[in-house]
Amino acid sequence: MILEEPIKEVITIKNYIDGEWVASEGELMDVVNPATQEVIAKVPISTKEEVEAAIDAARRAFPIWRSTPPLSRVRCLFRMKEIMEDRFEELSRIQTMEHGKTIDESRGETRRGIENVEVATGIPSLMMGYNLEDVASGVDEYLIRQPLGVFGIVGPFNFPFMVPLWFAPYAVATGNCVVIKPSSEDPISQMKIAEIAEEAGIPPGVWNVVNGGRAVVSGMLDHPDVAGICFVGSTPVGRDIYRRCGETGKRVIAQCGAKNFILVMPDADLDRTIAACMTSFFGNAGQRCLAGANLVPVGEGLSEREYEAFHGKVVRAMAESAARIAVGYGLDDSVQMGPLRDKGKKERVAGYIGKGVEEGAKLVLDGRDVRLIGDWPHDAFLNPTVFEGVSPDMAIGREEIFGPVACIMRARSFDEAMEMIHGNPFGNSASIFTSSGKWAREFQYGVRCGNVGINVGLPAPMAFFPFSGMKDSFFGTLHAQGSEAIRFFTESKVVIQRWF
Ligand code: NAD
Repeated sequence: MILEEPIKEVITIKNYIDGEWVASEGELMDVVNPATQEVIAKVPISTKEEVEAAIDAARRAFPIWRSTPPLSRVRCLFRMKEIMEDRFEELSRIQTMEHGKTIDESRGETRRGIENVEVATGIPSLMMGYNLEDVASGVDEYLIRQPLGVFGIVGPFNFPFMVPLWFAPYAVATGNCVVIKPSSEDPISQMKIAEIAEEAGIPPGVWNVVNGGRAVVSGMLDHPDVAGICFVGSTPVGRDIYRRCGETGKRVIAQCGAKNFILVMPDADLDRTIAACMTSFFGNAGQRCLAGANLVPVGEGLSEREYEAFHGKVVRAMAESAARIAVGYGLDDSVQMGPLRDKGKKERVAGYIGKGVEEGAKLVLDGRDVRLIGDWPHDAFLNPTVFEGVSPDMAIGREEIFGPVACIMRARSFDEAMEMIHGNPFGNSASIFTSSGKWAREFQYGVRCGNVGINVGLPAPMAFFPFSGMKDSFFGTLHAQGSEAIRFFTESKVVIQRWF
């Protein structure tokens, strides 16, 4: 059944600056529903002057907001949470319409976004400092945490609702003001969240949204009143943002690209492993920074013949299960995988599939052969793809494809599999499937990546844990979400007081 679409006519998106909805002077671009190819919104590519106006509004709002009692600040977040719960289904369906993911995936995204708002409501306790009496005779010393001012938040296209909520609730709860730049590919969710912030009573200037591209981000990076930037997106852009923040002394969190490995030990429960791999490799059409990319059946302790049998079993199970995944419009609740975000992204992924064949990998399941549930234009759709015989130095084994493509590799031992992981420049996540405590322990101890799964294919940290990352997947010191975000948005001040 196709669920009712919440967007009935084309939305013209405005910027939200200083509590006002302002039409941009920038050019308008179409936002297209990737499944139906219908235009659902027009998004402005705002100018540098427009982001400067938002930064100025945030700077002016800061002195009053920072001195608003923390309990009053978080009451706004409690109201935001209530409104989000009331509009849960509408918000989720909007994500499916603007991004393409299935409705269940959108509901998961809405839930995780709300969870970040919930965690940030704990700020009155979570941002407390500490003290010690009598550090010298008659002298006390204490540490306080204070907000810094204005933060820029730059979101990626793949989680249009959730990712800015990894940061904004913590920034605002600790007394800062924010300017959010959503991905211009799917900006509607952030417009809805700004409406909710307004309805929840967040004062003008504290929560701003400016749509657009590079000019808006440059406007944030160049502005002396911006204390820090939170960026989530691809590695080349994240690296550049990190460098530019270093030059101007801004705080920075840059969470970037990925190429995630999943090891399958011979003692793993294969049915459960393959079921988990379906979600990991093909969920969100592979457009997740935690998505499985390289699957490695590990032959530790097996003879040559036993390894061939084990490897063959994994390849067959992956191909058969992936071929059964129902692909179509995400608002059809029988669908398990939606389209790529747009035609260009589909062509890029299809290009990688072609390259894999040229490089000599064996195509076991070709997702370019598009088969859909329902009669939708094929523009942005691919079906799941499975390769075997992939080596770590092939482009498909090394680079981020960001699509529904599983690359199966070979490793005869645990150490060889770990070397493959560590030879790759990215370090976002990695998982192992095993029933052995020894391999689970060695893996979590030795693997160099931020998010580790043990019998879990998609190790997405809860909102009260940091969303980590290492190597080319992360630039910065503190991470998104939870206590690390709270530290990022506050600076510590130490006071020593002598009592005369
Ligand atoms: P992207 O880098 O193309 O864009 C991210 C944001 O930066 C967008 O808002 C975009 O408008 C802006 N931008 C793009 N080019 C820019 C430039 N030259 N200068 C300044 N700003 C620019 O990334 P994307 O395609 O939107 O998102 C997908 C990427 O995000 C993937 O690499 C994925 O792995 C990564 N990602 C990482 C995490 C994580 O936590 N590590 C989470 C989600 C997505």
